[in-house]
Amino acid sequence: MISIWEKETFFAPQDVIIVGSGFVGLWSALYLKKKAPKLKISILERGLIPTGASTRNAGFACFGSLSELMHDVQISGTDKMLELVELRYKGLEKIQKHFADGSVDFEINGGYELYDDSLIDTETLIANIEYINALLKSITGTKKTFKLNDEKIESFGFAKIRHLVKNNLEGSLHSGKLLQALLQRVQVAGVQVFNATEVTTYNLYDENIEIETNKHLPFSTKKLLVCTNAFAQELLPDLDIVPARGQVLLTSPIKNLPWKGTFHSDEGFYYFRNLGNKVLLGGARNKAFEDEATKDPQITSIIQNELEKYLDKVILPKQKGEYTIENRWSGIMCMGGEKMPIVKQALPNVFCAVRMSGMGVALAPEVGQQVAEMMID
Ligand SMILES: Cc1cc2nc3c(=O)[nH]c(=O)nc-3n(C[C@H](O)[C@H](O)[C@H](O)COP(=O)(O)OP(=O)(O)OC[C@H]3O[C@@H](n4cnc5c(N)ncnc54)[C@H](O)[C@@H]3O)c2cc1C
Repeated sequence: MISIWEKETFFAPQDVIIVGSGFVGLWSALYLKKKAPKLKISILERGLIPTGASTRNAGFACFGSLSELMHDVQISGTDKMLELVELRYKGLEKIQKHFADGSVDFEINGGYELYDDSLIDTETLIANIEYINALLKSITGTKKTFKLNDEKIESFGFAKIRHLVKNNLEGSLHSGKLLQALLQRVQVAGVQVFNATEVTTYNLYDENIEIETNKHLPFSTKKLLVCTNAFAQELLPDLDIVPARGQVLLTSPIKNLPWKGTFHSDEGFYYFRNLGNKVLLGGARNKAFEDEATKDPQITSIIQNELEKYLDKVILPKQKGEYTIENRWSGIMCMGGEKMPIVKQALPNVFCAVRMSGMGVALAPEVGQQVAEMMID
């Protein structure tokens, strides 16, 4: 039983309850408070800390590699590709603006894409660069978002690589620091955050929504916002989403690591960065697509071996035996039939902002703003 004091404060009926305190839940809370500071908002998070993708990713501040954008044009057309790039690009601008104090380690060191011999011929690659640059000019404001940078291949020490394409506008950040900073911001704005509280179901009434959780406490709200990304079907079964596990490894420090920045290969299926002279490498999901379409957070030897092979053969061919693997982890992303996030009213007074398609660091600020405007309008 709860006391009258608890009932009238912590468990008072809310204007908005958000499920999930990943990047999307937190940016949404921030924009809701910005638009309507008096709203009573609580966030219910089932992990002791957020436990989906937001604290388990690679921390790239990117809006898509050249080959990924070409692929998106082929699958969805230029308009959809540009719409997504714009959302990511504006999202990254928002992160920089909100955290200009350096607190989230946002750095622009440039991003690169690696192409091996088998992937593309030089003429097609140059044509692709020109094609995508012309399309992106209205978003990035530069004529040369991507440029060929083959002269760096040797000094970077990569093996089996024929071409390197650079994007000067790409950066990286510290995902843990960003998440903590966002949590602090929303709490300062008056948002309550309940951890270790799993929403199991909810009951819709005319005037309010009653939320059932594993804590059996009386949560109720006028509007509910589901920000649980890969886990969203548990609360909204009709959504077109598929979980996708992303696995990562981190090496011990490498002496004289000759490159900085973020790197992509194979339409974004491999990605790595210099994190304090260690190599953070993730991906290889395309080596076992079906097994990786899971919400199970285990790491697997198939993927980890593929990552180690890539490290050894392509990234650090000259440093064999000079490093160990210090850390391995996974996070759960959310994919679906298309790459656009789902931001909509799903039921009366129930909204959702989900399906970040592995790009939620960049997308979350824009998605959070969009859903906040939708809920308040
Ligand atoms: C390995 C990896 C690398 C990545 N690299 C990048 C990158 O470099 N750049 C980039 O932009 N993106 C990257 N991403 C993707 C990015 O991390 C995600 O798109 C983003 O974090 C999604 O944020 P979210 O808030 O939608 O979901 P999440 O962070 O998954 O948050 C959802 C939250 O909901 C909670 N939850 C779930 N169900 C319930 C429930 N029933 N009740 C209460 N709480 C619940 C979960 O515990 C979780 O904390 C990567 C992802 C992974 C896994």
